[in-house]
Amino acid sequence: MNDRKTPRAVRMAQPLARDVAEEIAKLHGVCIRPVALKRLDMTTGKSEVVDVPCGSPLESKCPPCAKRNRQLRMAQCREGWHLDEEPIITPDEPTDGQRWLVEFRADMQAKRDEEEKAGGDTSDLDAVLTGLDIEINEAGMRGNVLGRTSSKRVRSTKRRQDAPDLPKRKMASTTLGRTFEAADGKTYRPSLFVTLTLPSYGKVMNGAPVDPDTYDYVRAARDALHFSKLVDRFVQNLRRVAGYDVQYFATVEPQKRLAPHLHMAVRGTLPRAEMKQIAAATYHQIWWPQADEARFEGDHLPIWNEGIGYVNPDTGEVLPTWDEALDQLSDEPMHVIRFGDQVDVKGVLAGSPDADQCIRYLSKYLTKSLGETLDGQAQREHATRFVDALRYEPCSPTCPNWLRYGVQPKSAKSGMVPGCCRSKAHKPEHLGYAGRRVLVSRKWSNKTLAEHKQDRRTWVLEALGQADEPTDPHRYVWQPVKPGDPEVAPIGVRLLRSIAERQRWRAHLRHLEELSATPQAA
Ligand SMILES: [Zn+2]
Ligand SMILES: [Zn+2]
Repeated sequence: MNDRKTPRAVRMAQPLARDVAEEIAKLHGVCIRPVALKRLDMTTGKSEVVDVPCGSPLESKCPPCAKRNRQLRMAQCREGWHLDEEPIITPDEPTDGQRWLVEFRADMQAKRDEEEKAGGDTSDLDAVLTGLDIEINEAGMRGNVLGRTSSKRVRSTKRRQDAPDLPKRKMASTTLGRTFEAADGKTYRPSLFVTLTLPSYGKVMNGAPVDPDTYDYVRAARDALHFSKLVDRFVQNLRRVAGYDVQYFATVEPQKRLAPHLHMAVRGTLPRAEMKQIAAATYHQIWWPQADEARFEGDHLPIWNEGIGYVNPDTGEVLPTWDEALDQLSDEPMHVIRFGDQVDVKGVLAGSPDADQCIRYLSKYLTKSLGETLDGQAQREHATRFVDALRYEPCSPTCPNWLRYGVQPKSAKSGMVPGCCRSKAHKPEHLGYAGRRVLVSRKWSNKTLAEHKQDRRTWVLEALGQADEPTDPHRYVWQPVKPGDPEVAPIGVRLLRSIAERQRWRAHLRHLEELSATPQAA
């Protein structure tokens, strides 16, 4: 970049350590890890480097983005909890522009995967994908294009996981809870705040086991790995019992003993005893091969044969593939997960201070990763033992750990080593739970998180007297920025620029506020 083009004040600021710029950025709520993307304007033919906020939900990565995310989540939670009209959920037909974005993203993903396969550096392409995901959401599409993956395998009826003896009501086609009319004619709209916890794995004190040797780390690890499926089952059962399309906004947070637990704002109400009954009756079975006895470990590991797969190093026998192993399962599930006895159910009224307090509580730890709340020596040692237990636990059908138990992982390829799975679930910051931290049912509110973001943007632009026109999705083409690209200024300079811009906007807003507060002259 041409140094003379940089204002003097900015040039003078360059020697400032990046840390200082970061601190100032944090004070002003400016993203400290912006992603630089080259944006080519197809209408004007001009290209410029644009900083896109990293959007991290975690404080350890980017406090300002984490804070903004938390605020958006709180707004989203408030919006849907006590809704008194059915939300209108009719996904529009995708426009050409949206289709184009998704296709382009697919191309970029393929490029990235190729690069990874070739052992190259994928950070540029990862940045492009991040930018595209933002674009896709801003173009009005929900969720993430990778979507959810689900196994379609047909299970024998013996393995049906029906809810046992729970009451079952006739389904009404509504997502709204009941209202109650008080003697004074006022209508009350009660909802629920529910906390669900996993069972005990051994006595704990101050977040660490009293006796680490008897603490059931294997069970704790498996429960954490499959926690999200238990939550899905709970929602299915809840809807069946409630007799309407119950909507929820839930967050998964770490307990002090490092097990995940769930806070759930539920729209509408049910008797407390029934909620407890549903939690007690809910379970989920994992129909996977056994992972209790190691068959291959240390240097004694299955060997990859191109075109054949992994073979037993002693006999040369081909190990069963994932599908073969599933066909040979016994009648015992590999794991059964349930909630613990500790079920907390609280009634909450719309608009009460109580409701606000619950929303704050619900989002309290959202900006922290599950393994980030460690406190003291005993708890750190506890975390280390937990990570050790997770190391050889298979996290998914594609986990290399299956080789340890004599099964070829799904989509096996060369270079797989048990204990070296790169999936998030094994990492200290996730402690087995690699799922989403915020779970919002589809008909919670009329708005997605991206739409809440858009609300804010529209509000600011309106205050500035500018129309928030939707951008033509064909207008821009995004490209990765190579490290060392001369068009990208040093990070300190970019942060200072964003801060200056933020200050300009704030000043303008303040000015507008003052204008509107000034009494009109007669
Ligand atoms: Zn950020
Ligand atoms: Zn794994």
